[in-house]
Amino acid sequence: MAKHLKALIRFRGGPITVAEYMEEVLTNPNAGFYMNRDVFGTHGDFVTSPDISQMFGEMVGVWSMCLWHQMGQPEAVNIIELGPGRGTLMADLLRGTAKFKDFSQTLSVHLVECSPALRKIQHETLKCVYKGGAEEKPTADGQNSEVVDDRISQISGVPVAWHFDLDQVPRGVPTIIIAHEFYDALPIHQFQKSPRGWCEKLVDVAEDDCQGLRFVLSPGPTAASKLFLTRRMKWASLQEKAEIEHVEVCPQAMKVTADIAKRVGGDGGGALIVDYGDSKIVSDSLQAIKKHEFVHVLDSPGNADLSAYVDFAALKHVVEDAAVGAAVYGPITQSQFLGALGINFRLESLVQNATDEQAEALQLGYWRLVGDGPAPWLDSDDDVNRVPPGMGSRYKALVVVNDKYGAPVGFQ
Ligand code: SAH
Repeated sequence: MAKHLKALIRFRGGPITVAEYMEEVLTNPNAGFYMNRDVFGTHGDFVTSPDISQMFGEMVGVWSMCLWHQMGQPEAVNIIELGPGRGTLMADLLRGTAKFKDFSQTLSVHLVECSPALRKIQHETLKCVYKGGAEEKPTADGQNSEVVDDRISQISGVPVAWHFDLDQVPRGVPTIIIAHEFYDALPIHQFQKSPRGWCEKLVDVAEDDCQGLRFVLSPGPTAASKLFLTRRMKWASLQEKAEIEHVEVCPQAMKVTADIAKRVGGDGGGALIVDYGDSKIVSDSLQAIKKHEFVHVLDSPGNADLSAYVDFAALKHVVEDAAVGAAVYGPITQSQFLGALGINFRLESLVQNATDEQAEALQLGYWRLVGDGPAPWLDSDDDVNRVPPGMGSRYKALVVVNDKYGAPVGFQ
């Protein structure tokens, strides 16, 4: 990946944007971080809420079912997940809602996933089979090849299809969209105030070290600063404008959000976006994580996850400016969201039927989802490493829904 990036920079005859760097590092088809392996879990690079506890996907299932009631209980619903990772959230959602057949049998699952390796894992997690019963169907030329759109999940017997892009998911059907830790992986541009005005942070080959890459600042405004920074600054408060020295802008997040608004505004339905971030301009949040440790953003490209805080304020403005029949609510904290959906009652009922060991794991998972800061019962450094800080207030939930329904559950 490092070689490829340096070749790209030389070929271009100059530095690339941070957004281009992030996109190459995460989703380059040959060596992108997500593309060829399972990066999640204790043995991977990072752990996310669905893998911490089954209760996360179950609560998102409860939220989806409540929204379906607000939607007027349509007979057919596309449930779309953006960036499903291992597929754990969707599996827990389908399992948790399977017995409510009125709802569960209306669903067609659409997974938007760019990584072939993760698509395979999602197929397994959702216990998918081809409708004909065969694992893989031969193509016309007689060679085995994946057929992407005739699978069903044995968890609840509903169809599952994969897409590279939200645009590829069929329109015209009421839709529930879920994006958990998807937005933080979308490429951002970084801008910096300098004596020359606002400049863009770029990635160049390091002169002194033939192995490495370095950050440089553009000599003046760039195409991205003229387009995206200008747009973002229009929404900034006077105080933000006066104080801010660094700004991150994520054009893809804005585009996806505008597309979501159009879809739920036009076809009916709603979207739930859960991620870490704040409801204000994001300054300088891009980070790299490798094997659960922070590393420098330009170190080990392709082997470390890159992610940035989500600018929820920008997403809200995008929906409001689009004026396409969609309303936006939130962000609220993950702990408020899961609390409103009754996660504590779910915990109680799971603990009742659990062994002591399982109960301890459930309570720990519960705390990691809704707790805040370091776990209060820990005293040794060892335990602090074993139990990372709670995600209850760092993670936020934002919803975009058809404006006929009013606020969905948790956001009233
Ligand atoms: N939602 C999961 C995974 C989050 S990681 C969880 O919470 O565990 C980000 C996911 O988005 C991965 O599945 C990654 O492959 C996918 N992804 C990242 N960029 C993408 C893009 N541009 N298009 C489609 N999928 C993308």
